[in-house]
Amino acid sequence: MVWRHPLRRSEHTPSACGARSLRRRARWRALAWMLAAGSVGGCVSSIPAATPPPSATPPALPSGNPVPTRSADPSVAATPVAPAAGTPGLPVASPSPGFSLRVPILTYHVIAPWAVARAYALPALAVDPALFDAQLAALRAADWRTITTRELANALASGREVAPRTFVITIDDGHADGATYALPVLRKYGDVATFYVVAGRIGNPHNLTWAQVAELAAEGMEIGNHTLGHQVLSRLPGAEVRTQVDSAQALLTSALGSAPTTFAYPFGAFDAGVESIVRQAGFSMAVTTEAGSRERWDRRLEAPRIEVGASFSPAEVLAKMTPSG
Ligand SMILES: [Zn+2]
Repeated sequence: MVWRHPLRRSEHTPSACGARSLRRRARWRALAWMLAAGSVGGCVSSIPAATPPPSATPPALPSGNPVPTRSADPSVAATPVAPAAGTPGLPVASPSPGFSLRVPILTYHVIAPWAVARAYALPALAVDPALFDAQLAALRAADWRTITTRELANALASGREVAPRTFVITIDDGHADGATYALPVLRKYGDVATFYVVAGRIGNPHNLTWAQVAELAAEGMEIGNHTLGHQVLSRLPGAEVRTQVDSAQALLTSALGSAPTTFAYPFGAFDAGVESIVRQAGFSMAVTTEAGSRERWDRRLEAPRIEVGASFSPAEVLAKMTPSG
């Protein structure tokens, strides 16, 4: 069966969330070029017109706890700080810097029928639930099994190999379909996924509610930090990057009762300063939009992923899982 997406365009490549060529200092330059060229699909075009400024007051915490604030003193940015109580701790053990695992991390954004996804800001990235089902069926038939990013990070931190044909499913941006369409399919195959949610959007139209986020967590899914407002972090001053990371962490920790331990850079955009802030926040792994399927311990905050295009056939997904290199 050939799957065709209503919005599939020749320029809409599987790397539409952008930035597969973005590296370090060139990241933002390349992103700006793609924006100007109009060649970037959903993830970039998903920047909502109503995106609150970075200094906007986060929405009220579900439990009413205050969102902690940080000093805007720029000197703070250069001072390594130990993770505060309640934030994810850095791994205790440190394997050799070059230790690596080859665990494909798949990237999805929307699992929803076209009739639903068309109302979203990024419908071009929507994978139909029936296709998602077929992809997971094919992966299961080929003996692929899921773990979460958190479990992968734990294995990497302990220098522990994982079973062959282990992979990770990530679903970015926290759209409502994560609970309404993706979860039933994941449940059907006994799979787990890591949902990178935008904390400041939870409860907004077309986004997960706090109850749905809690439901996903209760079902064994990992809830990861995808910042407060989905800003391009490499464009922001360090203090605002901290606000984006820490405010989201406070909201999610309050709602879930435990702190997220892994992070996804919005648009895959980061630089050394952003990565340093993510490291200081204590995350054990951070995922990017770099293409690849091998995670290195010394680059655990730059983990590559495999973007699943809107109309990838199950065979195409399987082919991505076993690269020749
Ligand atoms: Zn995103």
